[in-house]
Amino acid sequence: MVTSDCVFCRIVAGEIPATVVHETATTLAFRDIHPQAPVHVLVIPKAHHADVAALAVADPGLAGEVLATAAAVAAAEGVAASGFRLVFNTGADGGQDVFHAHGHVLGGVRIGPMVAR
Ligand code: AMP
Ligand code: ZN
Repeated sequence: MVTSDCVFCRIVAGEIPATVVHETATTLAFRDIHPQAPVHVLVIPKAHHADVAALAVADPGLAGEVLATAAAVAAAEGVAASGFRLVFNTGADGGQDVFHAHGHVLGGVRIGPMVAR
């Protein structure tokens, strides 16, 4: 995939603005444009991988760095102690809309049931 096809690659490239809250050499965290909770931050690998399963197979170390960045975001956003939900929607049934692996850090309120009923 070329960079211009992927909205999150374009954010990494600085071609689309984002509110970045945390960055490492290999990961980026920025606020979701349509927040579903008081804290709603997306954590991505800078490298393009279609979803978290592909990321884990291709580069498990990088997958771990995404998790570590999510933990750092939760601490920085003040929800590490109160708790948060880390969600990786994967594929059509998982509700994935953007096919660049990303975790949602959701917190600041009691997150509801794990799945819609
Ligand atoms: P998912 O449904 O898991 O693929 O989640 C994609 C998320 O990306 C949604 O929550 C969108 O609101 C969010 N999103 C899409 N475009 C942008 C953008 N340009 N900046 C920030 N968040 C975005
Ligand atoms: Zn991408």
